[in-house]
Amino acid sequence: MIKIDGLKKNYGKLEVLKGINTEIGQGEVVAIIGPSGSGKSTFLRCINMLETPTDGQIRFKDQIITEKKTNIMKVRENVGMVFQHFHLFPHKTVLENLIYAPMKVKKLSKAEAVKQARELLTKVGLADKESTYPNRLSGGQKQRVAIARALAMNPEVMLFDEPTSALDPEMVKEVLEVMKSLAHTGMTMLIVTHEMGFAKEVADRVLFLDGGLLVEESAPEDFFSNPKSQRAKDFLEKVL
Ligand code: ADP
Ligand code: MG
Repeated sequence: MIKIDGLKKNYGKLEVLKGINTEIGQGEVVAIIGPSGSGKSTFLRCINMLETPTDGQIRFKDQIITEKKTNIMKVRENVGMVFQHFHLFPHKTVLENLIYAPMKVKKLSKAEAVKQARELLTKVGLADKESTYPNRLSGGQKQRVAIARALAMNPEVMLFDEPTSALDPEMVKEVLEVMKSLAHTGMTMLIVTHEMGFAKEVADRVLFLDGGLLVEESAPEDFFSNPKSQRAKDFLEKVL
């Protein structure tokens, strides 16, 4: 579904991504793991072109999205993104957060958008919160709304950048449960996470990034029990 060839990203003289090659299959759940500053967020942001790669090519299905002529807005409609800090619209209710883009971008009628939003809120366990404003929600609830909002665009891929890192510990599980059930629906997912237990259980594959390089790429059971590189060994020793 996604093919990444020689992806590089520099910020001025700083080389953040130094040539990443990988492929993501349809329905695959990929955990992206690595030390802080290794380029994980930049990697995700390049995939939906929130950052313009310095070099290399990204193909999404039959489209090379790194080409200038590509309509990036169209590509992004197919790629949902969930951030560490939720990024909900603070002046809109939960329901309004969910219907805004589908109506504006996908031209759904209000009735259609509301129907779909209610189904999604039920899925993430927040059917009773549709009239609530984000500041009245817990962190875990906000993140579940953010996931539902991304899903409201009916994306083909979902990108998650440390979706549970800003949450109090007791709220991590409810968000991971939503992500797990999404994974079971066959959604293609790329997840930057420090939740090693989740990665081990849910991911089909682990990408280990260090210093802007894809150092290791393996099945979770191999990665966690038998990392190949010294860098992965050192990292796992610190976090496990
Ligand atoms: P990670 O998500 O793995 O912690 P990032 O992709 O956020 O890493 O960042 C990788 C490196 O790129 C860091 O050194 C960071 O300071 C730098 N960086 C990220 N975004 C920018 C930016 N917009 N401008 C300059 N440097 C950046
Ligand atoms: Mg990051």
